Amino acid sequence: MTGVKDETVQISPIRLKGFLKCFLLKGRQAVLVDTGSTGDGRRIRDMLPHHGVRLTDLALIVITHAHPGHAGGLAYLKERLNVPVAVHRLDADALRQGFNRPFSPASKLGQLICPLLPRGVGYAGVEPEILIEDEFDLSPYGVTGKVISTPGHTPGSLSVILDGGEAIVGDLVVGGLIRRRKPHISAFADDESQVLASIQKLLDQSVETMYSTHGGPFSADAVRHELLEQAAAERER
Ligand SMILES: [Zn+2]
Ligand SMILES: [Zn+2]
Repeated sequence: MTGVKDETVQISPIRLKGFLKCFLLKGRQAVLVDTGSTGDGRRIRDMLPHHGVRLTDLALIVITHAHPGHAGGLAYLKERLNVPVAVHRLDADALRQGFNRPFSPASKLGQLICPLLPRGVGYAGVEPEILIEDEFDLSPYGVTGKVISTPGHTPGSLSVILDGGEAIVGDLVVGGLIRRRKPHISAFADDESQVLASIQKLLDQSVETMYSTHGGPFSADAVRHELLEQAAAERER
C-alpha cells in the first residue's frame, strides 16, 4: 500500500443501511472487521478504494460474531476477493450455517423485540479459514493489533484491540436507540454476566475507546461508569 509509512493503524468506519457499520483497519495492509447484512457486501467492496485500500491490500476479514448484521455481506466478499476469514471457534457453526438459530433476548426490551423479528434472518453461510480460540495476532496481516475473545453477546464474540488503545467490539457494547453515544448492553446477549466480564477484560488491556457496530464510539470511562459501576450498584441493591 502506498502512503502508509509507519505502523499506525487507521480506523475507517463504513456506514451501511439500518444504522450498521463495519470497520476497515489500514496499516501496511488492511483488515476488514465485519461485513454488514446480506446485500452490503457490494457496497463494502465498492467503498474500499474510497478509503485508500486496493482490493489486493485486503489481507483478512474478521467476523466479530455470526449475527446477520455482521456476517451477512461475507459470502459476496469472499467469493470476489478470495480473502481468508477469521471467526471464533464457538461462532463458526453459526457462520457456516448462516445463523439459523433464534436470538437470545437478554433484557425486557429484547423479549419484546424478539417475536417481532422476521423469521429466517439468516444469510449465505461461509466456511472460515481461521478459527480463533483466545487471542490472534493481526501483524502477519499488516495491522499491528490483535483479536481477543470477548464472549457474552454470543459465545464466540470477538474484539479487535489496536496498539493505540482503540477496540472494535462488535455488539459487546451498543448505543441506545435514541442516544447513540450512550453505552448499553445489547438487548440480545447470550450471557449478560459474561458481557460484563468481557468489558472488564478490555478495560484491563488499557482500551480507551470502544468502536461498536451500533452507535458509539464510547470512552472507557463512559463504559466503566454506565455499565460496570451501575451493574455493581444494582447487585448491591
Ligand atoms: Zn449481534
Ligand atoms: Zn449487531
